[in-house]
Amino acid sequence: MINFTVGPVQSDPEIREIGREDVPYFRTPEFSALMKENEEWLLKLANAPADSRVVFLTGSGSAAMECAVMNLFGPQDKLIVINGGSFGARFAKICDIHKIPHDEIRPEFGCGVTEDDLAAFAGKGYTGLLVNAGETSTGVLYDVEMIGRFCREQGLVLVVDAVSSFIADEMQMEQWGVDLVFTGSQKALALPPGISLLMMGPRAIRRAMEHETESLYFDVKDYLKNGERGQTPFTPAVAILIQLHRRLEKIFAEGVEKERARVRDLAADFREKIKDLPLEVLTKCPSNAVTSLHPTGTRADGTPVKATEIFSVLKDEYGIWICPSGGDLADYMFRVGHIGYLTTEDNDRLIGAFRDLMRRGIL
Ligand SMILES: *Cc1c(COP(=O)(O)O)cnc(C)c1O
Repeated sequence: MINFTVGPVQSDPEIREIGREDVPYFRTPEFSALMKENEEWLLKLANAPADSRVVFLTGSGSAAMECAVMNLFGPQDKLIVINGGSFGARFAKICDIHKIPHDEIRPEFGCGVTEDDLAAFAGKGYTGLLVNAGETSTGVLYDVEMIGRFCREQGLVLVVDAVSSFIADEMQMEQWGVDLVFTGSQKALALPPGISLLMMGPRAIRRAMEHETESLYFDVKDYLKNGERGQTPFTPAVAILIQLHRRLEKIFAEGVEKERARVRDLAADFREKIKDLPLEVLTKCPSNAVTSLHPTGTRADGTPVKATEIFSVLKDEYGIWICPSGGDLADYMFRVGHIGYLTTEDNDRLIGAFRDLMRRGIL
């Protein structure tokens, strides 16, 4: 199979090889040293300010979403949630569950937020803002730098979900004023799912230390304390953390910009090659991580082609996974990811399959 989903994605064979080994015991100085390096590299990747820390959480990206919100905010807060798709909606749901007052900005489908959208929320007693840097359900990349300026002016704590955009798109924690940014292991880091990483700036750390979090597993105070000696409070997904170490080592050996350029060029190559296909790009400001597409063709019987059918036929007859969409949009759109161990030749195989589907009246 060739995997063009947005996670889990394909891993470098060298990283996969590590997954074949037995999982080692981890309360050792050797593992602690590896974790300290992981922390240092991740903070560098995020361009984090001095005195930032990383929380290594065993759980998928949604665990990081909930963990970030419940450790920094409570019923005394008032948050702005940018809700432009299913991941924005998840932030809102987390606020509901934890009884955190919030209001939503709902950008039009496939669009970013503007300074005017934010200006309407100025001076109204908000204390924080939650945004998915990349809203993976639509493929939109929000302008976090602009959002950061607004938050700075208004004194808001800024939490950024970069689960799919981390590495694929730029992240300048310090320059943009991001207090906490998190990602997951199975997106552009191209590791197995199971680990999420929360990069916390000094203000987020301070807030979390003063915050009473009603949870055993999700209280970051415990993680920050154990992290001082390169450990986690509970047994982590040890193997993935070792794979993470190898992956980061390789990224820094080759240069971070090179890895980002690889994803960006792969996305650009794909977007160029589909220009004459009956596929409408749905996003005005796309992340490098993913392209959202609406197939515009009609079938022999005059009905519109179906994204769900394209997904199934590619999977069952061509050995290719694209990323289906859920809910009301399932027949309307699908997505093609550009993260993970993919090449432009893989793009060519996908385009070739698309052309074949056109001949067969499926695309
Ligand atoms: C994938 C993703 C998540 C997390 O999803 P999990 O299935 O819990 O790993 C969160 N936010 C965004 C923007 C994502 O792309």
